[in-house]
Amino acid sequence: MIRLEHEILFTPIPERIARLRELAYNLWWTWHPEAQELYRQIDPDLWELDYHNPVDFLRDVRQRKLDAAAADPAYLKRFDAVMKAFDSYMGAKKTWFSKHHPNAKDVQIAYFSAEFGLHESLPIYSGGLGILSGDHVKEASDMALPFVAVGFIYPQGYFRQRLDHSGWQFAEYNKINFADVPAIPALDPDGHEVVVEVELPGRTIYAKVYKFRVGRVELLLMDTDIHPNSPQDRELSARLYGGDQEMRISQELVLGIGGVRALRRLGFTPTVWHMNEGHSAFLVLELCRELVAQGVSFEDALQQIKTQCVFTTHTPVPAGNDAFPLPMIEKFFWNFWPQLGLTRDEFMQIALQEQQWGPTFAMTALALRGSDFHNGVSKLHGHVARGMWQWLYPGKSQDEVPIASITNGVHTATWLAPELRELYNAYLGKTWEDNLDDPKVWKKIYQIPDEVLWTTRQKLKSQLLAFARERIAAHHRHLHQHVPTDPLLEEGILTIGFARRFATYKRATLLFKDIERLKYLINRPGKPIQFIFAGKAHPKDDPGKHFIQDVYQLARQPGLAGRIVFLEEYDMAVGRAMTQGVDVWLNNPRRPYEASGTSGMKASLNGAPNCSILDGWWPEAYNGQNGWAIGEEREYSNQDEQDWNDAQSLYYLLEHEIANRFYDGRTDADVPTAWIQVCKESIASVAPAFSMRRMLADYVRELYMPAAGHGSAKG
Ligand SMILES: *Cc1c(COP(=O)(O)O)cnc(C)c1O
Repeated sequence: MIRLEHEILFTPIPERIARLRELAYNLWWTWHPEAQELYRQIDPDLWELDYHNPVDFLRDVRQRKLDAAAADPAYLKRFDAVMKAFDSYMGAKKTWFSKHHPNAKDVQIAYFSAEFGLHESLPIYSGGLGILSGDHVKEASDMALPFVAVGFIYPQGYFRQRLDHSGWQFAEYNKINFADVPAIPALDPDGHEVVVEVELPGRTIYAKVYKFRVGRVELLLMDTDIHPNSPQDRELSARLYGGDQEMRISQELVLGIGGVRALRRLGFTPTVWHMNEGHSAFLVLELCRELVAQGVSFEDALQQIKTQCVFTTHTPVPAGNDAFPLPMIEKFFWNFWPQLGLTRDEFMQIALQEQQWGPTFAMTALALRGSDFHNGVSKLHGHVARGMWQWLYPGKSQDEVPIASITNGVHTATWLAPELRELYNAYLGKTWEDNLDDPKVWKKIYQIPDEVLWTTRQKLKSQLLAFARERIAAHHRHLHQHVPTDPLLEEGILTIGFARRFATYKRATLLFKDIERLKYLINRPGKPIQFIFAGKAHPKDDPGKHFIQDVYQLARQPGLAGRIVFLEEYDMAVGRAMTQGVDVWLNNPRRPYEASGTSGMKASLNGAPNCSILDGWWPEAYNGQNGWAIGEEREYSNQDEQDWNDAQSLYYLLEHEIANRFYDGRTDADVPTAWIQVCKESIASVAPAFSMRRMLADYVRELYMPAAGHGSAKG
């Protein structure tokens, strides 16, 4: 039975459909659109108003609407079908894990991440890292891995993006009400709520642990906004990546050290510890401390725990790798190193980095030294990471540095449009979802008639255009402006999407290098193009905000207006709508700074080919027939030259390859056969190889099982 703290506040639900509440408290619904439909159909307007949040919805919904649903045979039929699917999922005995590893009963994987992108109604993610973590947890559930995830709840979430009249981004923080999210206070074996303690300078901080059910696995999220923390400490976990470095190190202490303590208090006994990015690397120190307290020397303790630890590095951008000044480490850890039996200098040595900006304590160095299993997130990124951290391995050449690579993937059910899922159900065979990573299954895509795939894709595009127009109207209403009546976006024309964080290396304004050329391309008679942009800049990244402002203002210029739009608040809902609805996904980072990228995988899965720089995952995926490659696979010493060359290449592709193929050679029924060929090739080549299923199977085989003492290590 689920314990519902706020039960009393719900609208009473008729007995026949009472399990809607249980369903709301298992995030399984986030990747089952048919489960979301059960709520939406009861009151579509409220579903939008509550931003697709079933817990909130059940608190707000009118009694008579619930009664009407409970009396509607058609509704009950759908309800029963969803509950049956849910029950059979939760109760399944034959699973991926039991099939592949029948003798691994002792394995338990603890997965730490600073952010989790599970759904737009739970805004505790900022971008790619969080989305990847969320997808990772969902897939761990689908494969029935012995898995538990640990992170923060951030009661004020990540910021909501607003733009003012000039297109300047400002941040809005909305408090997450715990009664409105599927949070369940975690209880220890004695039935007490779990609050963990971590020492900070001059005080103890307390973090309360909440449990979220994600299908078959649990996600534990900590919250410091509780009594008896000081007001300042209560703010500590308020926001993701908010505050200064002191706040950041405090957060990371609670994540790494508090996270281990939370697992212990709840009776978990992990045999594998996975640090997803360096934010949680302090867990290495806590695991050593536990052993030193039992009389083991620090050296031996470190050797022992390393064999169980896994670390994934995610960025080749130096600022993305946390490093703290030594005086700050001293302030936070002077009480900790004696517990490890170390002196100050010995302690600093564990993660000392003197390569850049003077000596610092580097979380990536700590994570690498504290784990035997490490990986980057694409082949190219693995290579770059081996060069970046070569100094930690004296005497080894770049190729010998023990950082492997496992390329990212996306959780298929989360990102696939329901309309396409129906199509795939019809053509890929009954068990396609059990074999998501099998290329043979996806070859059947070619059996879908061109006009059927085209019609579905046109429908998805039309939905996206309606979604975009509504978002833009809402933006104007918010600013108390007239909603423009000029035509905005046109049905049927080639539509290109660009959505990502506005970090400068992603070069959101590359398309605008030569405005006249762009105007020509956008308005070419018979072959027009339109663009949909979205993306957030980090609240402290003014150059990123200037990029947003540039796009926003350029989109109003004569010759571009109506054909270029910028959508506020890039979140998972916008990400879904865009990757499912555009014709082409554009990605033009400055090579080689994109570690992997995953949004393009979502687009391809939905039949929208990529037009991308050969960076991150794309060099592995691009085969000449499944999309387009911008520029060359080379390094530049001059960034202006790189930008100019890449822009020229992009214009050339848009004009001669992409638009021509989209508009030319249509059948009598107006179906672009040559175009559909690229769509199908993009689905068949990307969907299996860049699925989260393939990624997690690689993690299990190459990292998790060896770390758990089953099977041998590779690197
Ligand atoms: C997929 C996704 C990302 C990550 O995509 P990149 O290709 O790494 O930029 C970021 N934000 C949202 C909302 C997403 O859906």
